[in-house]
Amino acid sequence: MEPQQRSPLLEVKGNIELKRPLAKAASRLPLSGRRLKRGPDQMEEALEPEKKRTRGLGTRVTTTHPRAAALNSAPQTQGQTAAVPRAPRKSAPRYSMAVAPVLKTQKPGPVVPAQKPGTTAAPPMVGGKKPKRPAWDLKGQLCDLNAELKCYRERKQVLDQENQQLQDQLREAKQQASVLGAERRTLEEELTRVRAQAEQGQRELGNLSARVLELEERLGTQEGLVQELQQEQLRLQEERRGLAAQLGEQERRLQTSEASLSDSQAEVASLRQAAAAREAVLAEREDRLHGLEMERRRLHNQLQELKGNIRVFCRVRPVLPGESTPSPGFLQFPSGPCGPSDPPTRLSLSRSDERRGTLSGAPAAPTRHDFSFDRVFPPGSGQDEVFEEISMLVQSALDGYPVCIFAYGQTGSGKTFTMEGGPGGDPRLEGLIPRALRHLFSVAQELRGQGWTYSFVASYVEIYNETVRDLLATGARKGQGGECEIRRAGPGSEELTVTNARYVPVSCEREVEALLHLARQNRAVARTAQNERSSRSHSVFQLQISGEHAGRGLQCAAPLSLVDLAGSERLDPGLALGPGERERLRETQAINSSLSTLGLVIMALSNKESHVPYRNSKLTYLLQNSLGGSAKMLMFVNISPLEENVSESLNSLRFASKVRSLAAPSPSGFLLTVGVCTLVLQASGTCIPKGCTFARQLTIDFWGCLN
Ligand code: ADP
Ligand code: MG
Repeated sequence: MEPQQRSPLLEVKGNIELKRPLAKAASRLPLSGRRLKRGPDQMEEALEPEKKRTRGLGTRVTTTHPRAAALNSAPQTQGQTAAVPRAPRKSAPRYSMAVAPVLKTQKPGPVVPAQKPGTTAAPPMVGGKKPKRPAWDLKGQLCDLNAELKCYRERKQVLDQENQQLQDQLREAKQQASVLGAERRTLEEELTRVRAQAEQGQRELGNLSARVLELEERLGTQEGLVQELQQEQLRLQEERRGLAAQLGEQERRLQTSEASLSDSQAEVASLRQAAAAREAVLAEREDRLHGLEMERRRLHNQLQELKGNIRVFCRVRPVLPGESTPSPGFLQFPSGPCGPSDPPTRLSLSRSDERRGTLSGAPAAPTRHDFSFDRVFPPGSGQDEVFEEISMLVQSALDGYPVCIFAYGQTGSGKTFTMEGGPGGDPRLEGLIPRALRHLFSVAQELRGQGWTYSFVASYVEIYNETVRDLLATGARKGQGGECEIRRAGPGSEELTVTNARYVPVSCEREVEALLHLARQNRAVARTAQNERSSRSHSVFQLQISGEHAGRGLQCAAPLSLVDLAGSERLDPGLALGPGERERLRETQAINSSLSTLGLVIMALSNKESHVPYRNSKLTYLLQNSLGGSAKMLMFVNISPLEENVSESLNSLRFASKVRSLAAPSPSGFLLTVGVCTLVLQASGTCIPKGCTFARQLTIDFWGCLN
């Protein structure tokens, strides 16, 4: 059945039963889509004719009629109309509404039964209304009622059928509802899933948007970079073009250069050959030079030895301001064999002895004392002149031969002046020590060109009363003595060293000047009012010279010693022996002892004795390595030009003469005898034992000749 054809009553009933608005019911009932979409207005319209019809009937049905009550009490066996009796009385309108259409569909004609005989005919219609039968017309009324009942029964059947249809529709609708519910759940699940997917999608979309933004940003950066790179590329291309042009130019130049290079290479090859030849010549010359240098050293040494390993120079100081001028002829310097141009080597001293007289009572003629030395320096000789004579010896020290230079003489004769120099720092007055060192540094520098490297270590000590004191001491040790001892540098070593003394490496004149200044300061500290200690002590400046020729594996080492000896004057025997004099006597004895030991050592060395009494004094012990063997010794005998010092001058000259005679034995005199004896003894192979009577006798004779 089409929904449009369904009875409006059923719809109304359904609506009333559901008690829901029609709009809502439309969404819940299993009606067709068109019906579902129908709104309340449409429903109203649909209902409208029914209402009208119901209203039309209402006047009859709603009227409480005893026969209506009879209808209500109709037997329930009819079944399908159970709803009608169940409805409460209050729902009478509903009932009438349900019944009304039925009544309308029934044609009034057939409902009213035909008037049976005996009954009154149905009253005619008055104003559209059925006329009321008279009360007496019970039969007519019954007839009406039967007709009505019949009508109702028919209607009931129709309603039952409709009800059945509706039940079917309801079942179908329920099935559809359950299907739709399942569909709805599925759809809801689908919706949830889709929503979740949508959310996921949203999130992904958000992420993707962020990623897109980021990528866009990166793209922007990359684009910027690309632009920069493009610009850079352009610049590089430009540069490349420039470089290519330069390269072309360079290549052209290179080709030119290569051409000239090949020329140069040929030239270089020839130059190399020439250089190799020159190098060979140079090496040969170097070898020759070295050979010559060694030969020079050998010859120099031979020359020095021929001059004598022991040489004695005499120096007479000038008369100082305030001193009495000596009488003419007191000191004479006879010319050498080659005339006045020859350097003087002789000295003549006149001594007038007032104790001696002639028979006539006239004073005796002065006695002349002649002395001959390796060189004599008159009072006017300058420091440079003196140094010139000893510079050859200094060269020997550089060549590896020990050299020892003494200054001997009485106090005030000019020993310190000769060794260290005059006062005031005048370079012309510089003594042997600074000049010798300057010479050494200069020659060492020259020899550096030949592959020699030299080093110099200086020490400066004084020996007073057989005690050694460091003149280079600094700080708290300044001026203190007696702490130093002479020791061997090591077990089995020939080298001697002074304990607690400073050994200062020097390499220039200024350093040497500083050391000499320090030594002067140290001497001043030790000086006392009564005693000029420096004149009563030996000052020993030593320089250890070490040379090495690394290329040829050669080494040389030698000490250069410059000794300012203590005053050699004797003590006046007529002096009263007070406490000061006793001290002076002790000093003098120590000086004499050390000086005589020096004489004995020189004599023993010149006689090549097996025993040399080095240890008899601190001075000779300290100078042990600077004396003997191939060592060169030079003694300056300094004398005063004054007549009043004649006695001491003579003593000094005699001592120096003896020393010189040891180096070059003269064919006459006492020492000749000694020399002959020695030679005879040595030639016969006789051994002279240490400390033998011969040597002792020699000592006595040596000093005996001085007095
Ligand atoms: P010494 O050291 O032997 O005691 P000095 O060297 O102190 O003697 O000399 C004593 C004085 O004589 C000093 O004033 C010194 O300057 C001076 N004198 C010594 N020799 C000379 C000389 N050759 N020329 C000038 N003055 C000298
Ligand atoms: Mg002096």
